[in-house]
Amino acid sequence: MLLEVRDLHVEFRTRDGVVHAVNGVTCGVDAGETLAVLGESGSGKSVTAQAVMGILDTPPGRICGGQVLFRGTDLLTLKEEERRRIRGAEMAMIFQDALSALNPVMTVGDQLGEMFVVHRGMSRKAARAKAVELMDRVRIPAAGQRVGDYPHQFSGGMRQRIMIAMALALEPALIIADEPTTALDVTVQAQVMDLLAELQHEYGMGLVLITHDLGVVADVADRIAVMYAGRIVESAPVHDIYKAPAHPYTRGLLDSIPRLDRKGRELYAIKGLPPNLLAVPPGCAFHPRCPLARDVCRTDVPPLYEVSGTRTSACHFWKECLDGRAGS
Ligand code: SF4
Ligand code: MG
Repeated sequence: MLLEVRDLHVEFRTRDGVVHAVNGVTCGVDAGETLAVLGESGSGKSVTAQAVMGILDTPPGRICGGQVLFRGTDLLTLKEEERRRIRGAEMAMIFQDALSALNPVMTVGDQLGEMFVVHRGMSRKAARAKAVELMDRVRIPAAGQRVGDYPHQFSGGMRQRIMIAMALALEPALIIADEPTTALDVTVQAQVMDLLAELQHEYGMGLVLITHDLGVVADVADRIAVMYAGRIVESAPVHDIYKAPAHPYTRGLLDSIPRLDRKGRELYAIKGLPPNLLAVPPGCAFHPRCPLARDVCRTDVPPLYEVSGTRTSACHFWKECLDGRAGS
């Protein structure tokens, strides 16, 4: 496996106490595969990604357990210098907000070119040619003329393409994209997502797509890992999830996206709010919001049940949920 995260734990020390932002996450992605990590804000998806990339805010964030295996090497045991090399050349990240991730006072050509100057020892001139080539790859019109423009001169969608170009520059084996289209209009979202999926195929990369929007990733993901309160509550091939979720939270997310085959049906909204991580409910953290909850849910933390060889669910009543009795 290209990337394998095993029993990862991350905590934050805050004035009000210790927040267990990531609480035993296990997941992985292979070359050429797309894993979507789905969850509401505060579920621990971004923190997991930052821990994997080695860019966690430290302090107050601290990895307090687990392994992050990249091609079999535990990144958490490497020196920062070695991690930085891997981060540049072998794994790259795409952020939600290109405007703050890009340098506002440097032309996009110089920013793209710098990757080649720093990591590949290219001349400025050769690096600029590479920058134009990359801008072409991500389909920025008139790349040759726009290479000298600054980030603010591009539209949101075009800027996100530039971020993708930056991430692709050194042809990494893995890209982690954290809400890459959330800030964009719906039509532009689809275009950027299609581009990302296309490039991922072409380059044979592993792709981790972090999102709160199941609708955005349905067509491009191979697997989905659903996070809730710092845990993965369901992990399965995307088709299995669509056919029948094995966790009531997944069912809630699924029922709250518009679908063509459900036209006319009222959209469902999961009741209540995600838990405050300083006071996670006992037992199953989802129980205050769960239509299937009963007494055992309030006391016993559900283990990860094996639903099939490729599927897990952290719900005591996953069978009922699969049968469609989650009551939405
Ligand atoms: Fe709902 Fe209980 Fe399953 Fe948690 S364990 S998701 S509360 S049915
Ligand atoms: Mg986030």
